[in-house]
Amino acid sequence: MTSEPHVGLTGLATMGANLARNLAHHAIPVAVHNRTFSRTEKFIADYGSEGPLSAYESTADWVSALSRPRLLISMVQAGAPTDAVIEEIIPHLDPGDILIDGGNANFRDTQRRHRSVAQHGVHFLGAGVSGGEEGALNGPSIMPGGDRDPYERAVRPVFEAIAAQVDGTPCCTYVGPDGAGHYVKMVHNGIEYADMQLIAESYDLLRHGAGLEVPEIAACFEQWNQSELESFLIEISARVLAKTDEASGQPLVDVILDAAEQKGTGRWTAQNALELGVPLTGITEAVFARTLSALKSERVAAAGRLAGPAPGTSRGDETLVDDLGHALYASKIVSYAQGFAQMAAASQAEGWGLDLGAMATIWRGGCIIRARFLDRIREAYGADPALANLMLAEFFAQALERAQDPWRRVVAKAAEMGIPAPAFSSSLAYYDGYRRARGPASLIQGLRDLFGAHTYRRIDREGAFHISWSGDGAENEI
Ligand code: NAP
Repeated sequence: MTSEPHVGLTGLATMGANLARNLAHHAIPVAVHNRTFSRTEKFIADYGSEGPLSAYESTADWVSALSRPRLLISMVQAGAPTDAVIEEIIPHLDPGDILIDGGNANFRDTQRRHRSVAQHGVHFLGAGVSGGEEGALNGPSIMPGGDRDPYERAVRPVFEAIAAQVDGTPCCTYVGPDGAGHYVKMVHNGIEYADMQLIAESYDLLRHGAGLEVPEIAACFEQWNQSELESFLIEISARVLAKTDEASGQPLVDVILDAAEQKGTGRWTAQNALELGVPLTGITEAVFARTLSALKSERVAAAGRLAGPAPGTSRGDETLVDDLGHALYASKIVSYAQGFAQMAAASQAEGWGLDLGAMATIWRGGCIIRARFLDRIREAYGADPALANLMLAEFFAQALERAQDPWRRVVAKAAEMGIPAPAFSSSLAYYDGYRRARGPASLIQGLRDLFGAHTYRRIDREGAFHISWSGDGAENEI
């Protein structure tokens, strides 16, 4: 590489700043830029000595400083700010240059931007970057999508250098055309929502069902992290639960307002599942649980009005503690099965040719949902790339079989105790619904035919049928 800046990065908030430092730590010369120059100045003052970093105030100077073809990364707020940045940069670029949006864009926006940027002869890549602040600095999981040739030629060596590595394999692979990278990042975030909701429900049941104290719950998560549940989110759950609030001396979790916020990727995942017709109950319940949590004042009022069992504090339900680990693992399998089924459906609908095993591979390190069992998902798709549902892979089918008795006990006890467990119970309902050769939808079809003449199909012969419900009662083939 020449000493000219090889990568231009704009957007020096948390993610961009750490990504720029990560690049510089790998001796990749980076020209940095930010809308507000004071942020650029502070960045250079704080980190300029860490590696080949140079700063530019104007977009024109920043772009012209780069070696050709140019490689530019935008790490700004998703939505309108990303459009504003693209609009600002494009007039300064030449055909053949490569512009990468590393923010959390909606994949439909990425598809649109890909088309419009291509009109200028510029290659556009939408790359999902996961791992938060720490990942961006020390090795994220990167999900790049867009034009493959420029990716392989110019971007791959850079991304593979800065990505997390697991067993010598970088947590980065070309995902697919146009919006595929941002799509996979969206589903990754959706799965993260479901994982976090399952963790929150486990905490609630350990505390108010089994009567454990917060430090004991922290210890329980630590123990789970030594098991098949080993994952980053379980590990940090133990850390958050072990933290004491210095001002009050109480567990920090007791002084944090119980209203979860969200930035939209979980909602997008659920919306897209509805559009595709993919049952995505775990992630969707997790989004709804956050919205319900945000209705704090309504909940406080309802707590004094609506009847039901009060959350318990009595100790001693050892079975529940033990059962929860199994229920958590089984429900987690279901939410990943649903997320992977959604990616398969999107790949089919968009013609992306997603390699699902490769997605599991690049999520093994760097990202927020990194977990031991992603290796098993990788193996499952390696053995059968056309696997209809992850739950059908031998390893997972057996794990679900082993977990199902405790899983059912947890869901039943939660309902009896009045402790909401939407992710646990919807996962179990999905599992039971999926393994049901014949379900009750025949009645729904009958009802639809009665009130709307929507017709139904029969199990014994082809065709669409309608009953003359208000006439002679005869069945007619339509
Ligand atoms: P952010 O808070 O999402 O965005 C702040 C950055 O955007 C600042 O550099 C800001 O510049 C710039 N910006 C905002 N509006 C702009 C505009 N109209 N024109 C030009 N620049 C504008 O920062 P972040 O948390 O570091 O995230 C960056 C991207 O990565 C986002 O798309 C985010 O969704 C994604 N992401 C974030 C995380 C995370 O953990 N934070 C993880 C994965 C992905 P000024 O300094 O001038 O305001």
